[in-house]
Amino acid sequence: MIDTEKSKKISRLKITPTVIPRSQHIISRMQISDSALKVLYRLKNAKYKAYLVGGAVRDILLGRKPKDFDVVTDAKPEQIRELFRNCRLIGRRFRLAHIQFGKEIIEVSTFRATHHISDKSESHAKDGRIIRDNVYGDIDDDVWRRDFTINALFYNIEDFSVVDYVGGIKDLETGQLRLIGEPKTRYVEDPVRMLRAIRFASKLGLSIHSTTESSIGDCSNLLENIPSARLYEEILKLFMSGHALETFISLRKYNLFKYLFPQMDQLLVQIEQDYSHQFITDALKNTDQRINEGDHITPGFLFAVMLWGPMRIMTNEYMSNSLSEMEAVKLAGDAIISKQISSTSIPRRFTHMARDIWTLQIRLKQTKKRTFRVLMHPRFRAAYDFLLLRAKSGECLDNLIDYWTKEQLNEPLAQKSRQHRNNKYQRSRNPRKKDL
Ligand code: ATP
Ligand code: MG
Repeated sequence: MIDTEKSKKISRLKITPTVIPRSQHIISRMQISDSALKVLYRLKNAKYKAYLVGGAVRDILLGRKPKDFDVVTDAKPEQIRELFRNCRLIGRRFRLAHIQFGKEIIEVSTFRATHHISDKSESHAKDGRIIRDNVYGDIDDDVWRRDFTINALFYNIEDFSVVDYVGGIKDLETGQLRLIGEPKTRYVEDPVRMLRAIRFASKLGLSIHSTTESSIGDCSNLLENIPSARLYEEILKLFMSGHALETFISLRKYNLFKYLFPQMDQLLVQIEQDYSHQFITDALKNTDQRINEGDHITPGFLFAVMLWGPMRIMTNEYMSNSLSEMEAVKLAGDAIISKQISSTSIPRRFTHMARDIWTLQIRLKQTKKRTFRVLMHPRFRAAYDFLLLRAKSGECLDNLIDYWTKEQLNEPLAQKSRQHRNNKYQRSRNPRKKDL
């Protein structure tokens, strides 16, 4: 195991990595996207070093299809920009180049060095977190800044070899997720690494190495200081990558779920076998299934699910104070969402969607009223799916489910609704005076 102090000394001594030649590994250029290859070759032809790194190397070695391709080079961000017209420099904490090819973005970063070279007070917050990280170095500086050994493998476009400084290949073979360096220091530098550990372990079916695992308990409270926007981004990666259920179970096991969804966590701690547990389990199973079948999913639905337990309780409280059910749902929705966004931000379009799904749960009960308008609601389908999940988790809703399932199949009504939607669309493109 290499701790941080040792790693600094070692990196100064320039240790020799294990280099696995092309003939001894399975990464072929066929598995690398054309755009990533273009970037690698253009950097190489301009006499820069260029490597594929991170998730793509890891995933190909595991026989999986990479989600995206990250490149690392000794070219500085401005030099990268000079080489690519389709390049945008982003980030403050990490200055990166994004090179856009249609929908695909290749992220290109410059080798970074450890901070002992520069003034630490400028780069670290008082609590040890890295807040700025733009000290450039070489590959053997950069490697120690990466999180896990399996994420620190470099595929060299020069000779197609894989360069391994940290035993990442062995960890891949034995199915271990291991932080590089001393785990506590690495979690203090960036507490989100704890969430990344859970994510990679769940997604790739790896076991978390003992010290990487045991330090989570001591460091988990550091997640309180992470900006809410970053936690939102992490939630999407945790729950919308096809392994949401395992991830949820693991987050709860390590007591990290509460930093993402504190209100729901409180409820789950109080009554472990509660309806909410079943509801989330069913919903996440469903989300995973949809993702694996290529169906559409949206963060709005996920947030509606993850806040539903506290919503029910608060709605009941408001109703016992003699508010109507609809008023109670609306007020509870406001309160629950404003509490949630003090932990994780949520873009407004998704808070709107969650609210719509909740209020539609009331409108779906009123089967005698305005069936057509409910069917027409742009969130009807999501609200109906939500209703199905509630029923699956033990709520007695069979009559409602039957009713709305039939209504959707009712051909004249369905035709009318399509027409209605078309008219609405035409009006929005060509508004009448009274709509303006
Ligand atoms: P994914 O399949 O989710 O994209 P990834 O490993 O490629 O997984 P990215 O977030 O794309 O993850 O990051 C690319 C690489 O950058 C990582 O593999 C890792 O080497 C490094 N990295 C990213 N985030 C961190 C972090 N918080 N701390 C240290 N290194 C990091
Ligand atoms: Mg990646």
